[in-house]
Amino acid sequence: MRISDGTGALTLRFFHFNKLQQQGFQRGTRIRCYGEARPGAVTLEMVHPEYQRLEEDTAPAVEECLTPVYPTTEGVHQLTLRRLADQALQALEGPHEQVLPDWLPPDLLEGFPFTGLAEAIRYVHRPPPEASVTQLLEGRHPAQQRLAFEELLAHHLSLRRLRHEARAQRAPVLEGDGALRTALLANLPFQLTAAQRRVGEEIATDLRQPHPMLRLVQGDVGSGKTLVAAVAVLQAIEAGGQAAVMAPTELLAEQHYRNFAAWLEPLGVTVAWLTGRIKGKARSVTLAAIESGTAQLVVGTHALFQDEVTFARLGLVVIDEQHRFGVHQRLALRDKGRKNGLYPHQLVMTATPIPRTLAMTLYADLDSSVIDELPPGRTPVQTVAIPGSRRPEVMARVREACGAGRQAYWVCTLIEESEVLQCEAAADTAELLREQLPELRIGLVHGRLKAAEKEAVMRAFQQRELDLLVATTVIEVGVDVPNASLMIIENAERLGLSQLHQLRGRVGRGAAKSSCVLLYQTPLSRTAKVRINTMRETNDGFLVAQKDLELRGPGEVLGTRQTGLAQFHIADLLRDAALLEPVERVAEQLLHEHPDHVPHLIRRWLGQAERYGAV
Ligand code: ADP
Ligand code: MG
Repeated sequence: MRISDGTGALTLRFFHFNKLQQQGFQRGTRIRCYGEARPGAVTLEMVHPEYQRLEEDTAPAVEECLTPVYPTTEGVHQLTLRRLADQALQALEGPHEQVLPDWLPPDLLEGFPFTGLAEAIRYVHRPPPEASVTQLLEGRHPAQQRLAFEELLAHHLSLRRLRHEARAQRAPVLEGDGALRTALLANLPFQLTAAQRRVGEEIATDLRQPHPMLRLVQGDVGSGKTLVAAVAVLQAIEAGGQAAVMAPTELLAEQHYRNFAAWLEPLGVTVAWLTGRIKGKARSVTLAAIESGTAQLVVGTHALFQDEVTFARLGLVVIDEQHRFGVHQRLALRDKGRKNGLYPHQLVMTATPIPRTLAMTLYADLDSSVIDELPPGRTPVQTVAIPGSRRPEVMARVREACGAGRQAYWVCTLIEESEVLQCEAAADTAELLREQLPELRIGLVHGRLKAAEKEAVMRAFQQRELDLLVATTVIEVGVDVPNASLMIIENAERLGLSQLHQLRGRVGRGAAKSSCVLLYQTPLSRTAKVRINTMRETNDGFLVAQKDLELRGPGEVLGTRQTGLAQFHIADLLRDAALLEPVERVAEQLLHEHPDHVPHLIRRWLGQAERYGAV
């Protein structure tokens, strides 16, 4: 069917268009239609548009409202949704307090440009013709903001409730006499930084309470979180409890195990270690030691909270690099440690600093500490970006650094998910570098090496038996070799900001001036450019995290995309960042003045999903 509005023509295409339908469209019939216009053979075309026949001669009725287009799914038509919305809106006609009580008393919202709830809902479903479409599409209209505000408020309140509930749970009081802690600190070749001492004190105080600690420690890479955790672990052990330290990867768990064993075993503490790769006899011995309590500290991966593991008296759980653990894992862990009505204390450490706004919203159930200081004597890492075509210059840099007695990392990245391909690429690169830099001792580490092989290579690098370590991104978290001062990241354009920052954190750990070379392939996408520039401009993990948040959105930054944790129906953490502070304030007031409204609000927005907020 061809239609025209006097300025141009459009083809409407219908399939199975029967005689009866056709008869309704005589030449000259006036219709209004809506659909997606795509280029067709002769004119633009619409396939199966929505349409409405207009009466002859009468001017088309002036629309009373703009027509909303709902996000939908196959098989559910816009018209169906609109009809349902109509029915729901009907219920709001007249006195609606019973159908849709407004749990936010007007005096709480004074100073906001918000309308009442019913009015806001009516507005977003039936915006008047003069409404600003741009504002509506961006979600910035006061009516939408009113709904976003309420949603954020409900989330915040639900986390506070969980925190409140946790406070009501019981945990072992871990006082300790300080003997082990004093001994550890006396053995160290350095002093704790002021920030480490402050955060350590906060944790120590928490552990002495009869309620479970739920504390998030944020600190940039290299800020010395591991040591802070070790001090907490010793407090638990002094008090006769067991502690568990959990890391996201085998490699990191291994390294933690080495660190903790080196620090704690000289003090007479028994340290065990458990990952999925430990099998057979060794496994059953370790499991027995955990169950009997002879293992005072257990370091491992998520293997720590499988069913077969039973702790004798778990007092403290430390989770390192928290963002890599799934929501469900943390939840399982909380329940797992429970014994005789006592919950273990939880310390969550993350090296991906979480922008304040996010922390406030998503971790309102956790207390938070920030190690905002690096150990003295570190010089900021200088970051440069160099196109792949200038690779020879980069090789010269490696030769020079290693010639001067320092060490370097060469990180290979591949966009493919396949670990096999990643490892092959790293092996090829190592081969090539060995040819081109024959005077250097070059090692290779990737995810497919056996644990023992990996450990041997890492140890050789740590002990300066290797000059250059070629690696896949497995070295991303936690590896600590202070003599390494140069980091090359190949195909840097493929990595996210947080990952780049983590990798870069492997250098700049000693006194030597360190640099990070981002080797990239041209042409760079716009986002890749922003990422690389951000890396060049700052070493500050919080700034990097903020930028990462802007580029990728909160779900990806927190690694919780699949869990729905960071997904709101209406609110958008970036767009609505300005609402977060008022949300906190209004939450306070509501809890104070209208505590009976709180459960209703939570149920309205979170329903049964609330439990996920706990993690
Ligand atoms: P991260 O916070 O990234 O986990 P680590 O705990 O791995 O950092 O610490 C990085 C390095 O700094 C380690 O070699 C550690 O021994 C060292 N370190 C920790 N605290 C201090 C300090 N107060 N002074 C000097 N070096 C420190
Ligand atoms: Mg660490």
